[in-house]
Amino acid sequence: MSTFRTSFPRSADEAADALRRVLAANGTPLVVGGGTLAVPSLSRGELTPTDVVDLGRTGLDRIELTTHAVEIGAQVNYQQLLDSPVVTARLPLLHQLCAGITGGIQIRHQGTVAGALCAARPFSDAPAALVALDAQVFVRSADASRIVPAEKFLRGAEENDLGPGEFVAGIRLPLGERRAGYVKLKFAESSWPIMTAAAMLPGLVVLGGVARVPVRVVLPPRATAADVRAAVAASLESVPSGHRWSDLRAGWDYRRRVAPEIAVRAFIRAEGTPA
Ligand SMILES: Cc1cc2nc3c(=O)[nH]c(=O)nc-3n(C[C@H](O)[C@H](O)[C@H](O)COP(=O)(O)OP(=O)(O)OC[C@H]3O[C@@H](n4cnc5c(N)ncnc54)[C@H](O)[C@@H]3O)c2cc1C
Repeated sequence: MSTFRTSFPRSADEAADALRRVLAANGTPLVVGGGTLAVPSLSRGELTPTDVVDLGRTGLDRIELTTHAVEIGAQVNYQQLLDSPVVTARLPLLHQLCAGITGGIQIRHQGTVAGALCAARPFSDAPAALVALDAQVFVRSADASRIVPAEKFLRGAEENDLGPGEFVAGIRLPLGERRAGYVKLKFAESSWPIMTAAAMLPGLVVLGGVARVPVRVVLPPRATAADVRAAVAASLESVPSGHRWSDLRAGWDYRRRVAPEIAVRAFIRAEGTPA
């Protein structure tokens, strides 16, 4: 493991200032959220920052209900979301996602949705679901704040929209009356997903793990399962070859063939969920 300094800012402002100071000293900062991905990478020497900025004491761990949205701080973990009555009642898609996170209580209490979004792994749970939820990402730096739709924030496989000195302070999840269903395909209970499908009805299924970024599939009005299969197949045909996702779990052709059925399962689950 390389050596690095670690700071524990006490607020979002302090975190922004810590990042600014590292960059001003020509250092390479690494933001750590729950650390479930970042810390093992540091231990293996895959990441070699001069400075770690740990968000664990920033107080960005609140879930707030506003008039039209639920806002979650960057440090909100999966277990907090599972335990939240607001999330259970108003954001069933997010609740279903959190209920399926593997790794036991350590990962559920430590891993954050913001961390998963920043990591931008195509096959992980959060990306497609956040796109389906029309999530907006609060990005902070010492100089500015901006809000970016999750769909634009995810720029590619393990590639996000953050510039130097920026970090994610929170995520806004708009509330609506749409029915939601989340399903993932994996080899075994503890495996990473091969692919994910997040349905928001009427009108939308978003697929994860089939391309470098989530694929949005718009459904026709009063869609049937057959419509979902056809819409997914057509959308996948239009994914450019350089954007199609393959990894050690499955190649693109397998993903393309199973995607319509996984999408239909999410669609059926959503149909059975109250709006
Ligand atoms: C045993 C195990 C099981 C797992 N199971 C699942 C699973 O079922 N589904 C799944 O999707 N994932 C799973 N994961 C992966 C991972 O734990 C989660 O996706 C988690 O949500 C990552 O969040 P984190 O806060 O720990 O991120 P971190 O490890 O802190 O960070 C991940 C990356 O994001 C950056 N980052 C983190 N927060 C911010 C921020 N606020 N602003 C800017 N950059 C930031 C870091 O610099 C780093 O590059 C698992 C991991 C393990 C070890």
